[in-house]
Amino acid sequence: VTALNRLKAIVGSHGWIETPADVARYATDYRRLYGGPTPIVLRPGSTAEVASIVTACAEAGLAIVPQGGNTSLVGGSVPTAHGGEVILSLERMNRIRAFAPSDATITVEAGCTLAAVQAAAAEAGQLFPLRLGSQGTCQIGGNLSTNAGGSNVLHYGNARDLVLGLEVVLPDGTVWDGLRALRKDNTGYNLKQLFIGAEGTLGIITAAVLKLSPQPKAVETAFLAVPDVDAAVALLNLVKDSAEYGVTAFELMSRASLDLAQARLAGGRTPLPLEAAGWFVLLEIVGGGTLNDALMALLTEAQDRGLLLDGVVAGSLAQAEEFWRLREEISDAQTAAGGSVRCDIAVPISRMADFITAASLAVREIVPEVRIIAYGHVGDGNVHFNPLRAVEAAPEEFLRHAPAISHVVDDIAHALGGSISAEHGVGQAKRDELPNYKSPVELDLFRLIKRALDPRNTMNPGKLLARS
Ligand SMILES: Cc1cc2nc3c(=O)[nH]c(=O)nc-3n(C[C@H](O)[C@H](O)[C@H](O)COP(=O)(O)OP(=O)(O)OC[C@H]3O[C@@H](n4cnc5c(N)ncnc54)[C@H](O)[C@@H]3O)c2cc1C
Repeated sequence: VTALNRLKAIVGSHGWIETPADVARYATDYRRLYGGPTPIVLRPGSTAEVASIVTACAEAGLAIVPQGGNTSLVGGSVPTAHGGEVILSLERMNRIRAFAPSDATITVEAGCTLAAVQAAAAEAGQLFPLRLGSQGTCQIGGNLSTNAGGSNVLHYGNARDLVLGLEVVLPDGTVWDGLRALRKDNTGYNLKQLFIGAEGTLGIITAAVLKLSPQPKAVETAFLAVPDVDAAVALLNLVKDSAEYGVTAFELMSRASLDLAQARLAGGRTPLPLEAAGWFVLLEIVGGGTLNDALMALLTEAQDRGLLLDGVVAGSLAQAEEFWRLREEISDAQTAAGGSVRCDIAVPISRMADFITAASLAVREIVPEVRIIAYGHVGDGNVHFNPLRAVEAAPEEFLRHAPAISHVVDDIAHALGGSISAEHGVGQAKRDELPNYKSPVELDLFRLIKRALDPRNTMNPGKLLARS
């Protein structure tokens, strides 16, 4: 009780939440699959307050779960069922600290939503290119802690590539001010990269210097029907082969995944009839004034080579946004459908078709009547391969097979030289599977780093690595 009173005094009366009804949304994850009891939710307003909280928790032996927008798909942002962790939400730390147009950088606090950072950059005529379906809710601190990917990685890289500097509160309460805005700085270990993708297990990110890009002069968006996954990959290679434009997005979607999204969008019209094909691609390219001509030439060539069944090019920004809405609705539509297993897989792009064929067969051997919801950032070799129960099957019944499905899909990805988590992280969902796919050397290095920075294991325990 004394420790909790000390924590409350640090953040003041607006900075903590204790009532069970109000705590619930912080203590339960986005998909309501993970969560556990917490003594208190703390909402600090400054880095100094975060540092005081972490110091007080370290002294009291209290563990902390750092939380951003709580959109984690692997149970990383909520307490474990074991419980007892304090939830430290960054949501009140949402200020833009500095904007430097001539350096093309913006310095933001960790609790800024991704959409707010995109808007601040756009207002100044620049672009912050990270783009995720959850961008209205997820926060920069969460994006960096998960090394988020999303739809623009192909051209701009993932979150890791968009950061120049970080400010971090370490597990003992020390503040590391690494808010440098340098594009070159070879003065030793690249410490910021240690915290990016660490899922809050090594410290709390409180602010970041982000890299901005110029707004593209022209953008073209096309919704394409392709014969199969092999054709989609061949089309990707054709598209990437041009020096006339940059490819910002190449998203593959199975027909079953679009069926779900369309139903959730109240059956709105799709750009192409979905009966036209089993697989669709959302393509976005950027370039100069003759971009539309270049796209038309590309699509003609793709058709001549048999890589394209049909296609529609967005005639306006509003139409392009409609294409994207359909793509971005898939994730939530699938959550709402209930009873699915999420596998966020990466494989070398050349093995994508082999992966989807082998994994679909293997899953159908476990549950013959299954819908394969496969979609994602195939331009990066990343597919969300998410088997979903048949319409008439009960979710609980289907989910009895979840461990077996997950295991077989991960095994196939691994055998093809892939990863069992391309962009969502490990969290609680993949923690116990990780040792099957990492070498003992790699796992030992993970533990060595964790022990060096967080010897008491109070920073997001039970995520990424087992509590031990
Ligand atoms: C509809 C939908 C679409 C999505 N699409 C994508 C996608 O395309 N690509 C993709 O990569 N992900 C995607 N995600 C997953 C998720 O949105 C991302 O992982 C996102 O980066 C998480 O940000 P957040 O602020 O919600 O973090 P949270 O969920 O709150 O936390 C995620 C992890 O980061 C840690 N953390 C959060 N903030 C901090 C901090 N300040 N310091 C230290 N640790 C911290 C947490 O402890 C946790 O381990 C999607 C999720 C949804 C619901």
